[in-house]
Amino acid sequence: MKALVLLGDSRSEVREFPDPKPGPGEVLVRIKVSGVCGSDLKQYVYKVPPEKQKEMDAKFKDAKPYPPIPGHEGSGVVEETGEGVTSVKPGDRVSIYHYESCGKCEQCVKGYFMRCSKTKGMGQIGCQGSFADLKVTPERNCMVLSEGLSFVDGAFIACGAQTSFAALNKLGLSGLDDIAIFGLGPVGLCGVVMAKAMGAKVAAFGRREIRLGLARKFGADMVVDIDAVKADKNPKKIWGDIREKFPGSFSAGYETSGSEDAMKWMLQLLTFDGRAVTVAGGAPIPNWFIGRDTSIRGSFIMPRGMYDKLAGFMLKHKTNLEKMVTHRFPIEKAKEAFETAAAKECGKVIVEWK
Ligand SMILES: [Zn+2]
Ligand SMILES: [Zn+2]
Repeated sequence: MKALVLLGDSRSEVREFPDPKPGPGEVLVRIKVSGVCGSDLKQYVYKVPPEKQKEMDAKFKDAKPYPPIPGHEGSGVVEETGEGVTSVKPGDRVSIYHYESCGKCEQCVKGYFMRCSKTKGMGQIGCQGSFADLKVTPERNCMVLSEGLSFVDGAFIACGAQTSFAALNKLGLSGLDDIAIFGLGPVGLCGVVMAKAMGAKVAAFGRREIRLGLARKFGADMVVDIDAVKADKNPKKIWGDIREKFPGSFSAGYETSGSEDAMKWMLQLLTFDGRAVTVAGGAPIPNWFIGRDTSIRGSFIMPRGMYDKLAGFMLKHKTNLEKMVTHRFPIEKAKEAFETAAAKECGKVIVEWK
């Protein structure tokens, strides 16, 4: 099979590998779509210091694959099933849940595979990712795609859509809410689509015209260009405009960017008793949030058991996340897919197999 490997320092290469075989309880999936995620890009640009490279090569000499095959946003068709597999069969269309785990501990049984002490994320060293023709996955990681959900939907379900769906569920969002969403990469844009579908009024904060345009297309009630606010000599005006459009301040906030400013601004916009959820780290929390009784919660992807609820929601509200895809590449050009995504002048970038 063909697969992309990451070589560090923004270098990557498509290589040939032997076709994998499913063992007992495992499923071989022929990948149809694999999305490039912001977290893949962190791995892609990471430059290993020369002294550390030798150490890593020794540490991971038996890890397969090494260097890693990235990708955790994969969907495809079941090609073959291993011994004992009963819930999927060849020909089924599936999205692949991207944390592999023991399947037996308390957290696994609850569906929180990512909390298992033995968990491994697809695309990390030692756990093959989805930028490959084929991928073997445990049976319990196969989320069968309902009719009406495309392979592109399946790739979103594997990461961006599930992240935003779980986060917004924690806020208990409804038509009573005004929400400020920060960061308009694919996760933030999924947040815009879903917050609208849940009935909230949405202000979307981000940068780059292409992403601000997508937020408008997905129905955001107000779109704010963070760079324009920063460059503005009269920032009071934009804050005045926001207050005018959202007179009661915001009851809810969703932070997806990991930027310190974004966290600060989001908390400033929240009203008393406001509640916020963040899926991105790296931002300290100012101490005045105490006086406002603000609730802030972290959220990391979605438990496996929430899949049916998410699939039903996407079908019911015709979320049409495919509109977010701006660039498509075949696996032979996966290197270009990463270069395009790293330049950030894009919506969602995918690799697809026709
Ligand atoms: Zn992702
Ligand atoms: Zn476990």
